Amino acid sequence: MSEVLGPVPQGVTSPRTGRRWIPVIGLEVHCQLDTATKLFCGCENRFGAEPNTLTCPVCTGQPGALPVLNRHAVELAVRAALALGAEVHHESVFARKNYFYPDLPKGYQISQFERPYCTGGGLELAGGRRVRLVRIHIEEDAGKAIHDRGDATLVDLNRAGVPLIESVTEPDLRSSAEAHEYLVALREILRYVGVSDCDMEKGSLRCDVNVSVQLPGEGLRSRVEVKNLNSFRNVQAAIEREIVRQIEAYEGGDPERYPEQETRLYDPQRDETRVMRRKEDSQDYRYFPEPDLPPLALDAATLEAQRGLLPELPAARRGRYVGELGLSQYDAGVLTSERAVSDFFEATLRAGAAPKAAANWIANEVLRALGEDDVQASTFGELAFRPVELASLVALVDEGTLSNNAARKVLAHMLREGGEPRELVDALGLAQVSDSQAVEAWCREALAQRPQVAEAVRGGNEKAVGAAMGAVMGMSGGRADPGLVRQTLLRLIREG
Ligand code: ADP
Ligand code: MG
Ligand code: ZN
Repeated sequence: MSEVLGPVPQGVTSPRTGRRWIPVIGLEVHCQLDTATKLFCGCENRFGAEPNTLTCPVCTGQPGALPVLNRHAVELAVRAALALGAEVHHESVFARKNYFYPDLPKGYQISQFERPYCTGGGLELAGGRRVRLVRIHIEEDAGKAIHDRGDATLVDLNRAGVPLIESVTEPDLRSSAEAHEYLVALREILRYVGVSDCDMEKGSLRCDVNVSVQLPGEGLRSRVEVKNLNSFRNVQAAIEREIVRQIEAYEGGDPERYPEQETRLYDPQRDETRVMRRKEDSQDYRYFPEPDLPPLALDAATLEAQRGLLPELPAARRGRYVGELGLSQYDAGVLTSERAVSDFFEATLRAGAAPKAAANWIANEVLRALGEDDVQASTFGELAFRPVELASLVALVDEGTLSNNAARKVLAHMLREGGEPRELVDALGLAQVSDSQAVEAWCREALAQRPQVAEAVRGGNEKAVGAAMGAVMGMSGGRADPGLVRQTLLRLIREG
């Protein structure tokens, strides 16, 4: 488990020298926990409120105010750790990380340092390479400094004290694409287990990247940390810029300009990184055990309770969908990327639908419709119909009552305002016409109007029948059974 598995990506070749460099990347990811209240006080943990309305003496750092640990935050942190295969420790210690910044009213952040609540764990990328975690720790978020108001900098402390977990990887990643894949997989897991919405736009997931480059076979070189990355796209772009910048610096040959350990910021407008500060050392923070909180004790019962709440994880689901249900990798990926979608799919199967048909309707029709103007729902949780109703729609197609086209019409109705498919078929008059007399009458009419069709088919061009089929489908309002129409047309032509 300590080894990084799978073939290591090849690195990048310098256009200038033709030399091959191996990028080395480690990620530090902050994730806000989805609790009702903050980590050490009863203030609401909510995004988007009026600035400084969700505060109290504790989270604004008033003298004498004392922290009280939020039990649910700890439970969510434990759940995340278990989902990532990490080792949760029965005792850990909160520590003060001292630094000065206007968004940090206490002058220190309560975090964990020497003894985090969990170490190890990791996750596997699609190609089989494993990314190891060094640790995960619990800490409080800082407030937010707002710099875009002219000369003034404003401070909003609503975020101060919001619970975070910070997960730190080993420097196992070898390309910006791998870093991206890791983030997608990590976010997927954290969302699945319900610890966070991981919404980067709201800042509930934040990522710092550490980048160095080295020649094949070499040990680690100095790393540069890049902060302020507010989208997965920027994470990838910043890593790519930094790789190129570092290779150029080494190949420039001037040791004075070689990359050094420092913190840089990424500017997406200019697609460049620039120095923010020379890297501070952990010593600069004067960490010491938090005197206002006892060590965090986690008993076996807490761990077991959280283990019991873990759902099947997305990678396992994907494996099962491909292996047992016979779905394509692609469909399995689409169906499992959001837990709500996957849960809906599973419930549709339990209601009796065949896996492939259900997968098709969900992945191709329902997902595509979400967010369209006349569809109320923008997520699976908000759909106007239930899995059992989708299963019944699938059954109507299976048994031949509905053509695929008619079924799409029924679904469109269900997406708009719900409804039971069998009732909708009647109400909308959509039942497929398999009555051979009716179909034959339409076919005769279509052929009479298009003598060239029969001629072409008799001349060997069977595809020409399509024009007559289209006409029949039109006459029947899309309700004629297409198989029967085709058969009937060909028979009538043959009978001449
Ligand atoms: P700090 O606590 O100062 O941020 P850590 O040792 O915890 O330092 O490392 C932070 C991150 O940097 C980790 O994700 C780690 O994998 C990564 N890292 C360490 N050394 C290198 C390196 N030479 N190149 C790239 N990333 C590195
Ligand atoms: Mg760090
Ligand atoms: Zn508070």
